[in-house]
Amino acid sequence: MSSGAASGATVAADVVVVGGGILGLATAFRLLQARPGLAVVVVEREPDVGRGQSSRNSGVMHAGLYYAPGSAKARFCVAGKVELEQFCAAHGVAVARTGKVVAAVDRSEVPALEALAERARTNGVEIETIGPDGVRDHEPNVHAVAGLWSPNTAVTDFGAVCVALRDQVLAAGGQVVLGTPVTGLAADSSGVRVTTPDTTWRAGAVVTCTGLQSDRVAAMTGRRRERRVVPFRGAWLRVRDDRADLVRGNVYPVPVGAGLPFLGVHLTRRVDGQLWVGPNAVLAAAREGRRRWSVDPADLRDALGFVGTWRLGARFPKVAANELWRDLLVKAAMREVRRYVPDLRDEDVTRGPWGVRAQLVDRAGHLVDDFDIRDDGRVIHLVNAPSPAATASLAIGGELAGRVLARL
Ligand SMILES: Cc1cc2nc3c(=O)[nH]c(=O)nc-3n(C[C@H](O)[C@H](O)[C@H](O)COP(=O)(O)OP(=O)(O)OC[C@H]3O[C@@H](n4cnc5c(N)ncnc54)[C@H](O)[C@@H]3O)c2cc1C
Repeated sequence: MSSGAASGATVAADVVVVGGGILGLATAFRLLQARPGLAVVVVEREPDVGRGQSSRNSGVMHAGLYYAPGSAKARFCVAGKVELEQFCAAHGVAVARTGKVVAAVDRSEVPALEALAERARTNGVEIETIGPDGVRDHEPNVHAVAGLWSPNTAVTDFGAVCVALRDQVLAAGGQVVLGTPVTGLAADSSGVRVTTPDTTWRAGAVVTCTGLQSDRVAAMTGRRRERRVVPFRGAWLRVRDDRADLVRGNVYPVPVGAGLPFLGVHLTRRVDGQLWVGPNAVLAAAREGRRRWSVDPADLRDALGFVGTWRLGARFPKVAANELWRDLLVKAAMREVRRYVPDLRDEDVTRGPWGVRAQLVDRAGHLVDDFDIRDDGRVIHLVNAPSPAATASLAIGGELAGRVLARL
């Protein structure tokens, strides 16, 4: 592992992976597994791996209930979760298979709950339909008229997964270069020039997994930014430790659907035992701000100067207003959560951490739901990798590695 590389040097590599989040690292890991001895370099601009979305998320290893049958999300989530559990077991990363209840709090939600159960079964995901007593058996403090029980939903620390992946990449002879932003990509028939402030890499092929910067990095190979990353901040409330046993595993509402991939404000008992409520989804004024209310003028201009952002807001004005309201007022968020955990009081929570989702949006204002990989010859861009991409990381990494090896 190194910070930067030899100043002014041009260095050869078989593959450069841009981005040291969970997906870049998983891709490098899969490449080295498939082709030991390959010269693989991961280039990350932050001082350590996994500092972006990969360590600022709910930590849920999704079983794969929600995703459209046949979609990349469904396929990679179901396969990737199994692969990730095996990886974690082999490399000492804690996983707790705490299960999940999806709770319908009134009769009007039951048809959507049934549709979700059907979808889960089509995806090959184990699911049990339960009544109010069944809900209480799994989660004694959750009130619901009906529910689903997903026994295979688990939790982990995806930041710790990144560290374990980095160690495996290094052990297999790969390189991880930190504190080094990639500023240019230029491909020709024999390879790709990867520019950083100090070093130029000459690579046989390049994969970019740059999360919140994925549209800008894809533009480096001439892709027009027809669809843009719109950043959505998700903030959690943290439940006091002496009240954390109100929930044993994961409790989710019935998803709102209607073209929004966010799963609603849920409760997650994390792998370290903390109980978090959230996250919500509010337009962020900075893709990678250091503070909750950080403003990056370029990011803000990018989001507000894009017609898709406005059309998205116009399609869901009520949802957007509600999310903002609940972000500003803890009381409003808690009212929502008390629909299914009535004993949770306002004084049981404090404001917790937050993370920013990278979500690709098209010009019509639709959120691009599925994972999206774009091939530009010798450069492969992962342009959309929202949740459950951390769960699916090893499967997505395997797919990207396969495409790269076909080009070498
Ligand atoms: C609030 C929230 C909750 C979530 N909950 C879950 C969940 O419970 N389960 C789940 O499976 N998924 C969840 N996700 C999604 C999951 O975290 C992401 O899908 C996943 O982390 C994406 O990984 P990544 O490697 O693509 O992105 P990132 O982790 O963001 O990594 C991208 C990396 O690229 C680097 N980079 C960018 N530009 C450059 C450049 N020019 N040069 C060099 N490096 C660059 C960045 O510094 C960063 O380290 C959640 C996400 C959020 C935000």
